[in-house]
Amino acid sequence: MDYQAILNVIEKELKQFNPGGKVPDYIPELSAVSPDKFGMHLYCLSGEHFFFGDSSERFSIQSISKVFTLALAKKYGKKIWRRVDVEPSGDPFNSLTQLEKEKGIPRNPFINAGSLVIADILISHLDNPKKELLEFVQLITQDETINYDEEVAASEKKHGYRNIALVNYMKSLGNIENNADEILDFYFYQCSISMSTEQLAKAFMIFANEGRILETNERVIKPNSVKRINAIMQTCGFYDEAGEFSFRVGLPGKSGVGGGIVAVHPQQYAVAVWSPLLNEKGNSEKGMRALEELTTLTGLSIF
Ligand code: GLN
Repeated sequence: MDYQAILNVIEKELKQFNPGGKVPDYIPELSAVSPDKFGMHLYCLSGEHFFFGDSSERFSIQSISKVFTLALAKKYGKKIWRRVDVEPSGDPFNSLTQLEKEKGIPRNPFINAGSLVIADILISHLDNPKKELLEFVQLITQDETINYDEEVAASEKKHGYRNIALVNYMKSLGNIENNADEILDFYFYQCSISMSTEQLAKAFMIFANEGRILETNERVIKPNSVKRINAIMQTCGFYDEAGEFSFRVGLPGKSGVGGGIVAVHPQQYAVAVWSPLLNEKGNSEKGMRALEELTTLTGLSIF
C-alpha cells in the first residue's frame, strides 16, 4: 500500500477545506493556537513512517490522555469496572446529567467523569502518579522529551468549573476515594501533555501491536486489555459523535479538544491527525474528514 501517495492526496484535498467551528475558549491557553495548523502522521507495523504538514509540532493532547491513564489503570486489577461502565454515553464529554440517575457511576472511562474516576484509581495505587504517567507515555513513545505543559494545566485549573462539579458530585455519591483537589490537579496535568501527531502515532502503536512497543518488542499491556481498550475507543472515543466516527472512519480512535485525533487499525498502523477547529461535539472536523479519506482511499477499515 502506497500510504505516502494516499496522504499526499488527503493533504491536497483538505488543505483549502475550511471546516468551520472554533478553537475551544473554555481553556484560554488553547484559544491561542493557530486554527490553520494541519498535520498527519501514519506509523505502520512495518516500521515505516508517512506524514505531511505540521506533523512534528506538539499540541495539547487533552482527552487523548484518557486512553493512557486507562491503560495504566488496567494494570491494577479488575475492580475498575465496578466504578466505571463501558457504555457509550450519547451525551457531551462534560455532561453531569447521567450521573444522578446512574448513582455516580460514569458511563465510560473516556467522558470526563469516567476519566476522573480513573485518575482517582491511579492516585490510590501509585506513589507518584504524575511521574509514573509521564514515564509510561515516554516509554511507549520511546521519547523522553514528552512532558506536561504547566501553562495549559494552570489555564484549565482556573476555569475548570465543570470538572470540579463532576468530581465533587461523584464524591457525594461515594465513587471517589481521594481528595477532590488532588484528583483535579492530576487530571488537568494529564490533559496538558504536549505531543505531536508523530509521537501520538508512535504511542498508539501498542494498540495496533497487541500491547507491544514496536521498536523493542517489549509487552507493556496485555493483549486482552488492548482488545478492551480498542473496543471502548470504538464505542466511546468521540462522545456523542462515536457513532458518526464509526460510520465515517471505521476505526477505534480518540479525540481531544486540542484538535488531535488518533486512530488505530490493529495489525496495520496507528495514525494521528491535528487540526484545531472543533465542531459542536468538540471533535476536530478536518481531522475526522482526513481519517475518513484515509479509510476510503485505502479501502480498509476494521469493518
Ligand atoms: N481537559 C478537557 C476537559 O476536561 C478535555 C476534554 C476533551 O479533550 N474532550 O474539558
